[in-house]
Amino acid sequence: MGELLAQIDRVMQKRPIYREALSVYRELIVLLEEAGPEIEYASGDKKVREIKAREGFPLLSREDLPYDLKVTSSLFTRMLEHLSSKKREDREALKRALERAQTDGQWIERVLVAFLARDEATIDAMAQEVSLDSTVLKFVTTMALKPSLNTLRGLVGGVIQRDSWEYGYCPLCGSRPDMASLDEQGKRMLHCELCGFEWNYPRIKCPFCENSESEQLGYFSSQEEKGFRVDFCKKCNAYIKTIDLRVAEAPAPLELENLITLHLDMLAHEQGFTTPSG
Ligand SMILES: [Zn+2]
Ligand SMILES: [Zn+2]
Repeated sequence: MGELLAQIDRVMQKRPIYREALSVYRELIVLLEEAGPEIEYASGDKKVREIKAREGFPLLSREDLPYDLKVTSSLFTRMLEHLSSKKREDREALKRALERAQTDGQWIERVLVAFLARDEATIDAMAQEVSLDSTVLKFVTTMALKPSLNTLRGLVGGVIQRDSWEYGYCPLCGSRPDMASLDEQGKRMLHCELCGFEWNYPRIKCPFCENSESEQLGYFSSQEEKGFRVDFCKKCNAYIKTIDLRVAEAPAPLELENLITLHLDMLAHEQGFTTPSG
């Protein structure tokens, strides 16, 4: 992640408007850097894997993702400590969440389980218990899982056929994409919102509803930066931000690009498009 830190520094210089948000993100990345999660994964039978992939089953389901509970819980707590020490409006809520995490030994694990099961109702209720915005709770959870999922991706990424997977959800964990890119050959890649795995996907097809009628698909480009655009689908009203790596200047890793292209999300929302959730 040392390279990621260098990229964050570069972006903070280039786009001062994101400086404040990125400085918090940077501090959290530094916390994550020290973690050394232990992940166990047995790849099992190749044939079974191939059949599953052909049928559209991801290698692992979100509920079964292996993660290091000890490392993840400790990061979760440290991030709450860190964020609640900042002059943030939700400082008191973060402190309450921290207190809850420290007094109830199962609280963090319950958040993790609900988050991985996409159990929005439970996440919302648990966030509400401490009056914290549930997007903040989910953000902390995603970040705390990151070292485990990065390690997992390194372990299993090699056994996944990323160019024969035909679906709009991640072949590793089944989650949705949060960004797309067009590579040097103009081939489209989707980036997983949870585990960060990337896989090929047709350019003229909506990853969310699989609609491939070109008259219902479109995009608009960013006026400010070359190589950025928003692809949308009029059938399901979803959009995905796309970076064209052939044109964009010094692109950053997609998880970072996702954070520094919020103006594109705003434009998409203004035009009535949404990101699928839940
Ligand atoms: Zn994934
Ligand atoms: Zn669609």
